Amino acid sequence: MRQGPAFRIYNLLLERFGPRGWWPVTPPGALEPAYHPRRKTFRPPDEGGAFEIAVGAILTQNTAWANVRKALMELNRRRLMSPERLLRAPFSSLAKAVRPSGYFRQKAKKLKVFSRFLQDRHGGRMKELLSRPLSQARSELLKVHGIGPETADSILLYAGARPIFVVDAYTRRIGGRVGLFRTEDYEKARAYFETALEGVPLKERAGLFGEYHALLVELGKNLCRPRPLCWTCPLQRACRTGRRKVRA
Ligand code: SF4
Repeated sequence: MRQGPAFRIYNLLLERFGPRGWWPVTPPGALEPAYHPRRKTFRPPDEGGAFEIAVGAILTQNTAWANVRKALMELNRRRLMSPERLLRAPFSSLAKAVRPSGYFRQKAKKLKVFSRFLQDRHGGRMKELLSRPLSQARSELLKVHGIGPETADSILLYAGARPIFVVDAYTRRIGGRVGLFRTEDYEKARAYFETALEGVPLKERAGLFGEYHALLVELGKNLCRPRPLCWTCPLQRACRTGRRKVRA
């Protein structure tokens, strides 16, 4: 049954922004990651796409996607987008490639560590990691240096089409302002969405979770900013803060 505030918010956001076509992946022969908003069903990407998503999820920590895009294009241009090639690349050359994403030495190290993990534990194959039971794959990812819950869940959801809700700073801010939950805790916010959306059939859950997260990011970037633009927000009537601000 698709009822309740979490569904209402989703429908309002989808109506305003349309499908976001996440996660962008570089098509064969191209250098630049592309969105696919016209795709009807959510499918897991191929092996190369899954690895690129993992790399993007690591690089997007503490920076805007526009910077990550430049770093991904540079990795593609230098033909480094595979665990074997990342491991073989000299550290200085990898750091130079990911420089646009900021914290580039730390991120180059994280990419090396992740590639080593994938190579040693899963024969260098994302599909092998992502085919494990969800809790096992998540717990393995969380043990890798530089991978926290948001990064792990982004990889599981977008690279593996596994039904897990990704929470970020926008999710927490919007959820609190709208009045969906009162928590800063990652796991509690994730549990809120996963429980509230329980009525969605299992085969549709990953697609809906992926779209929902992308829509929340769109709202957080453009309207529900630190100083929110409530008068133009599609959630205004459904949002506790929005109703208060517009009344004031
Ligand atoms: S109405 Fe205002 S506070 Fe509520 S989600 Fe929209 S922008 Fe954020």
